[in-house]
Amino acid sequence: MGNLIDSAMRDAGAAPSIMLGESYPEIRQGVRSLCAEFPGEYWRVKDRERDYPAEFVAALTEAGYLAALIPETYGGSGLPIGAAVAILEEIHRSGCNGAACHAQMYIMGTVLRHGSTEQKQRYLPGIASGELRLQAFGVTEPNTGSDTTQLRTMAVRDGDTYVVNGQKIWTSRAEYSDLLLLLARTTALEEVKSRRHGLSVFLVDMHKVTGLEIRPIKTMINHATTELFFSDMRIPADSLIGEEGEGFSYILDGMNAERILIGSESIGDTRFFIDRATEYAKEREVFGRPIGQNQGVQFPIARSHAAMEAAHLMVCKAAALFEAGVSCGPEANMAKLLAGDAAWDAADMCMQTFGGFGFAEEYDIERKFRESRLYQIAPISTNMILAYIGQHVLGLPRSY
Ligand SMILES: Cc1cc2nc3c(=O)[nH]c(=O)nc-3n(C[C@H](O)[C@H](O)[C@H](O)COP(=O)(O)OP(=O)(O)OC[C@H]3O[C@@H](n4cnc5c(N)ncnc54)[C@H](O)[C@@H]3O)c2cc1C
Repeated sequence: MGNLIDSAMRDAGAAPSIMLGESYPEIRQGVRSLCAEFPGEYWRVKDRERDYPAEFVAALTEAGYLAALIPETYGGSGLPIGAAVAILEEIHRSGCNGAACHAQMYIMGTVLRHGSTEQKQRYLPGIASGELRLQAFGVTEPNTGSDTTQLRTMAVRDGDTYVVNGQKIWTSRAEYSDLLLLLARTTALEEVKSRRHGLSVFLVDMHKVTGLEIRPIKTMINHATTELFFSDMRIPADSLIGEEGEGFSYILDGMNAERILIGSESIGDTRFFIDRATEYAKEREVFGRPIGQNQGVQFPIARSHAAMEAAHLMVCKAAALFEAGVSCGPEANMAKLLAGDAAWDAADMCMQTFGGFGFAEEYDIERKFRESRLYQIAPISTNMILAYIGQHVLGLPRSY
């Protein structure tokens, strides 16, 4: 276990601490061993065939890693977010990819924080055991993009049901999930009292509805993402999570966890690129000496290492604040920004270190290069984070 030091206190009474050194070493070791069963060849075939890594997700579920954050009362391990950070970081460092299942870890929080006791009892034990998959999160729409408050998918109350019409895009894993966490409008845009009101969250059992069409989208990476079309999709009224009209704030509540966990995946990716580049730069000999002896090759690797360590500290700080129940919007956003940038810069560095071999599938660099690019865009694009820091941290005028 690493040392514990006090981090800055944001609110009086809260004294979050940051774990230096390797947190959750046993969990990390367990995840590494599991990932060793899914080497590059496994991911290359999945990537080539655009196939969902069902075996990998099943192994993570069976080992209990995907239920790490679910309270023990509902069959999970009841661990804090730092454990999920360790799990996702190790998955990515190993060359695997958590995107096939990571959403469960942060979507589940919305049900946990805002769902009724009855909803939690109905769904969480199944999610913890793997019997029920909660992997799909339907927020983005084709015509509104980053401007979530303008979304158009409408859910209209009709007796003891809601009738949903509209469209979502980029709803990842919908074909491999039983449940969908859906953000839809329950008050027409023209009638809302503020931009943040009038949206509601629903937990939809996709096997029990008609009027839902799922169309896969082919993308640069193997991400099982889809478009959803709702035409008079009728769902029971008790699919509503929390209060009608308050859904946007519920989704925002979950965003800090999402940013921290995506940040941890990017730290894992960065470590993967540094590990691979270092190893290759030591072994590859050109002009009679290892390429890593040249400063032009060595220094970019060293720079990536420094960037990764700095970004990692921000992920740890955000996670510590989150665990202490202290507001952590700036840190969660900066963690995602810095880790995403560290990963993308390291991807470029690693590709350059490998020279032509970086382009060959068998080294896994080009696959990881493509995968790490996503986090400049999703789940929130870099510009939106910069706008958040400009406006909410620095008090600059709102830019959009
Ligand atoms: C592979 C993949 C998986 C995804 N999975 C999911 C999912 O499971 N669920 C889900 O709901 N969504 C998902 N998304 C959607 C993702 O969250 C969005 O793509 C992202 O939020 C950006 O929205 P957009 O693509 O509509 O871009 P837009 O909002 O159209 O923006 C386009 C560009 O313009 C920039 N921009 C826009 N407005 C401004 C401004 N005011 N100032 C500065 N720059 C601006 C953006 O930063 C971006 O670079 C996924 C996307 C991808 C590619």
